[in-house]
Amino acid sequence: MEAAFFKAKKQGLKLLKNYVSLAFIAVLLVSVIAGCSSSAQSEAEQENAQRPIIVQGPMPIEAEKFADKLENVKKEKSGTFEFYIGTVDNYPVIVAKTGKGMENTAAATAVAIERYNPIAIINQGTSGGHDPNLHVFDIVLGKRTVNIGSLKTGNRAENEGIAPTEWKPMDLMASEGSAGEDPNAENIRYYEGDKDLLAAANAVKDKYTKGKVVEGTIGSADVWNNEVDRIKWFHKKYGTSVEEMEGAAGAQIAKAYDVPFLGIRILSNNKTNGGEYNPDTAAANQEYVYEVVRKYISTLPSE
Ligand code: SAH
Repeated sequence: MEAAFFKAKKQGLKLLKNYVSLAFIAVLLVSVIAGCSSSAQSEAEQENAQRPIIVQGPMPIEAEKFADKLENVKKEKSGTFEFYIGTVDNYPVIVAKTGKGMENTAAATAVAIERYNPIAIINQGTSGGHDPNLHVFDIVLGKRTVNIGSLKTGNRAENEGIAPTEWKPMDLMASEGSAGEDPNAENIRYYEGDKDLLAAANAVKDKYTKGKVVEGTIGSADVWNNEVDRIKWFHKKYGTSVEEMEGAAGAQIAKAYDVPFLGIRILSNNKTNGGEYNPDTAAANQEYVYEVVRKYISTLPSE
């Protein structure tokens, strides 16, 4: 009798155990399915979310004016790079304060692309004129951007001196061969400005009244050239309109990720015609770039 009782109890327990494990598996399945669909949902959400426009500025005076114009701003930092995340006309726009120079710009561009998946990047700020027809407060739209610091010197033995005008351009994107030996690397590498960004910039140029707005070639390097003959050499050989220290680095990385890019640079100085450095140009450029961004947003398809 007692044995039969224990047998029944044992069987009951076994049944209960089976039931519990079945229920456990069911709950697990449901949560896995729910998890799957919610991750699918967030992926879809991400795809549908509007991809931001990134506006880069190297120095505080070249970024903060634009950042002040953003709405709903929150700030994020990565390394020394600061991102002001906000909106313009209800569209997401991120102002990136990159710091000066090619390395800061390249890194800040890669970080921004990986983090924010931008639809387009505008690199903007001040510059020095290479074209004597351009004056302080004129603005150059970078139909092309080029690295003017990537150079290969001629062969000269000890005591043969240095001859910068013999230096040859070195194409950093000709990565397959050796930059020292490969004659294919001795080309000037121009990065083309995105045509839709250029169209938006051209469409609002009449709104800018402090100077003229022209298409041209932006040259970049971690160098500030004050030798007029050297400036003239770049102007002739590379067709540079202006020089600065960031554009080509941003353009190179944007191209690596296939993100539309445009440089927009105001002349803050021009050695070739006596144009003295004026820091107020930085704010004027941001006012104009703000109009460009608004125009570009108005051309984007609304979902
Ligand atoms: N005169 C400023 C210098 C800023 S450093 C000062 O003393 O504070 C250089 C910055 O200005 C870079 O971000 C670069 O993009 C820009 N720039 C303006 N004019 C330039 C020029 N003639 N050559 C190189 N960079 C220039």
